[in-house]
Amino acid sequence: MQSIDTLIEARWVIPVEPRGAVLADHAVAIAGGRVDAVLPISAARARYAPREVVQLPSHAVTPGLVNAHTHAAMTLLRGVGDDLPLMRWLSERIWPLEKSLVDAQFVHDGSLLAGIEQLRGGVTTCSDMYFYPDAAARALREAGMRVVVGLIAIEFPTGYASDAEDYLRKGLAARDALRADSLVSFTLAPHAPYTVSDATLRRIATYAEELDLPVHMHVHETADEVREGMQQHGVRPLARLDRLGLVTERLIAVHAVHLDAAEIALLAERGASVAHCPTSNLKLASGFAPVAALLAAGVNVAFGTDGAASNDRLDVMQELRLAALLAKGVANDATALPAAHALECATLGGARALGLDARIGSLLPGKAADLAAFDLGAWETQPCFDPVPLLVYAGGRAQVTDVWVQGQRVVQAQQPCCLVEDSQRTRVASAVAGWQERAQQLLRAMA
Ligand SMILES: [Zn+2]
Repeated sequence: MQSIDTLIEARWVIPVEPRGAVLADHAVAIAGGRVDAVLPISAARARYAPREVVQLPSHAVTPGLVNAHTHAAMTLLRGVGDDLPLMRWLSERIWPLEKSLVDAQFVHDGSLLAGIEQLRGGVTTCSDMYFYPDAAARALREAGMRVVVGLIAIEFPTGYASDAEDYLRKGLAARDALRADSLVSFTLAPHAPYTVSDATLRRIATYAEELDLPVHMHVHETADEVREGMQQHGVRPLARLDRLGLVTERLIAVHAVHLDAAEIALLAERGASVAHCPTSNLKLASGFAPVAALLAAGVNVAFGTDGAASNDRLDVMQELRLAALLAKGVANDATALPAAHALECATLGGARALGLDARIGSLLPGKAADLAAFDLGAWETQPCFDPVPLLVYAGGRAQVTDVWVQGQRVVQAQQPCCLVEDSQRTRVASAVAGWQERAQQLLRAMA
C-alpha cells in the first residue's frame, strides 16, 4: 500500500483533460500537494493508505477555477458606482475614492475579502492587478489562494507610486520579496493603452522577455478607447501594442471586446490569450466580445470577473455560464462554446494564459491538487444526465462545498478554513465595516 495524504472519493471527477471527460465513482489521490492519480474508487482503496479519506457521494470534483482578471481589493468598492458608463464610473467614483482611500491596509483588507469570496466559489487562482501588489498577494495567500500578482504600471501618481518608473521599481521589489512562495507568480500589468506611454510599454516588453513574465493589460475594452487611441496615435491600440513588441504569446488581452477580423487573426497567430470578462462588459455597456470567433481562430480564452466594483461578484461560475450563453447569442449559433469547452476556459484556459498550465488547470497526475467539489445532490441540480453541462447551466458557486489548494483544504463544508476562529471573522468584518464608513463619508462629500 502506498501512503498518501488524502484520498477524495467522488461521485464524479471531471479532469478537464481530455475535454468533456466525466469519470464516475472515481477518486483523486493527493500526495505532497500534487495529484498522484485519478482512478476508480475501488482501485484507489486497494492501492493507497491515505492519512485522510474525504467522501463526496453526490459531488463533482473539478480543477480549481482560475480567475484570469480581477482587482481584488476593489471588493471594498462593491456598490459605490452602479449604473454608470465606464469613463464616468472611473472619473466620478472609482478614481476619487481610490485617491482618498487606497493604501496598503485597504488593499490588504479588500484582497482578503476577495480571497474568501473566491475560495468559497471554487476559485483557487486569481490574477490580480492593483496598487500595493505586495499587500494584495499577502492577503490572498492568507486566505489560502494561489495568486498571480500583477506588477502594475500606470503613468499617473497615486499614494503607491509617483510615476511609471516608480511603479515598475516597486513591482519588481515586490516580486523579489514574494518569489520564494511557490503559490505566488507574477505578471507585468500595464493598466491600459490609454494610461501607459510608449516609453513605459517598450520597457515592459523588454522586462517580459528578460524575466519571462506574461503581460496582463486591459485592451480594446470600449469603442471609445479604440477611437481615442486612433486619434492620439494614428493606429488602433492593438496595432500600437504590436508596434511596441507586446503582441506575443505572453499577452493576456483583458476584455478584447472591440476586435476586427485582422486583430483576431493577429492574436491567434501570435499565440496571445484573451481574458473575457462578460459581466463587467455588460454592466459597463462595453459591448460583446467575439468569443466564438476568437476560439474558432485558435485564440486561448480565459475568464475573468474584473473587480467587484464593476461586476459585483468575484464568481467565475457566473462568468462561465454567462460566457457560454453570450457566445451563442453573439455568434447566432447554439453550438458555440459548449459547456465542456467553457469549463476548460475557466480552468485550463486561465492556466495557459498565466503560463501555469504545466502546474494547474486540469487533474493530470503531477499537477498541483487545486480542486473544487460541487454538491449536485440538491433539487436544483436534479436529474443529472451529464455533470458538465449541469454544472455550467444549472450549477453555480452555491454548490461549492470543499476546496483544496496544493492539497491543503481551504474551504470545508462551505466554511473558509482561514476563518475558523471567531476572532478571525470579527477582524475581517470590522475592517470591512470601517472602510465602508470612510467610503460613505467621501461619497456624501462628493454628492
Ligand atoms: Zn479590469
